[in-house]
Amino acid sequence: MDNIDLHNHSTRSDGLLSPTQLIELAARTGVDAIALTDHDTLEGLEEAAAAARRAGIGFVPGVEISVSWGSVTLHVVGLQVDPASPLLRDGLDQIRGGRLERGKVIAAALDKLGIAGTFEAALALAQDERLLSRTHFARHLAERGAVRDTQQAFDKYLAKGKPAFVEHHWADLGDAVRWIRGAGGVAVLAHPGRYDLKPMMRHEMLAQFKALGGEAIEVVTGSHRPEEYSLWQREALEFGFLASRGADYHGPGESPAEPGTLPQLNASLTPVWSKWAH
Ligand code: AMP
Ligand code: MN
Ligand code: MN
Ligand code: MN
Repeated sequence: MDNIDLHNHSTRSDGLLSPTQLIELAARTGVDAIALTDHDTLEGLEEAAAAARRAGIGFVPGVEISVSWGSVTLHVVGLQVDPASPLLRDGLDQIRGGRLERGKVIAAALDKLGIAGTFEAALALAQDERLLSRTHFARHLAERGAVRDTQQAFDKYLAKGKPAFVEHHWADLGDAVRWIRGAGGVAVLAHPGRYDLKPMMRHEMLAQFKALGGEAIEVVTGSHRPEEYSLWQREALEFGFLASRGADYHGPGESPAEPGTLPQLNASLTPVWSKWAH
């Protein structure tokens, strides 16, 4: 079976490898086709596509859109999107706008906790200031020894419910799906197990996503624990979603799985790539 990995990040958002380095790693790991799905930007796609052509592997242009669904932040991956789509570009541009301001508020909260100067330091780790991420804060906190590693930075300060978490309004779910579909892409609900929802809300999320035009959910992802795969496999089958597989790779030492190293999808599922593979 082909080794296809449809969720990965680069330095264009909060990854540690450039698009070219990511593709070269994937080619070495034996990936047959890979998607670059940076948060809220399409900027890395051209470089990644060229690197994939050179490396002789397939490339799927993608994006991971930040969405506010009530008080929950969801991530929606768009696959096979046209990077030139004005609708998608304008939508992403809108949501990128608020990140810098949010970063200042995160830094102020950390300052109150006795950790000063994080805004400039986190910003220095981001390639595009409009894509300043909590991940950049986490890396800075780890670098200065305020925490053991980036995971501890989230667990202690940056995750929802922790003292430096700052609420933010991202895209509406319906808009994100509309932008993706308008760009010719397929909307995939990313790592549904990460949202920590009770069964009723989980069903509400899946039903709404489906009704709005969402076509797939991630089942096998580096952001799910392996014991979660069977739950999301059942939900995909019950709701009639296509299934996706992706490492959600952010870089060496930060992600449990490298591109293409997770288990294959169970044979009972219809892979999302059946939409475009001939
Ligand atoms: P942001 O879009 O700036 O809010 O940052 C979201 C990113 O932070 C995600 O894409 C992950 O890479 C990372 N992240 C979010 N929550 C956690 C967590 N609990 N543990 C580790 N990484 C996380
Ligand atoms: Mn991320
Ligand atoms: Mn995500
Ligand atoms: Mn991701």
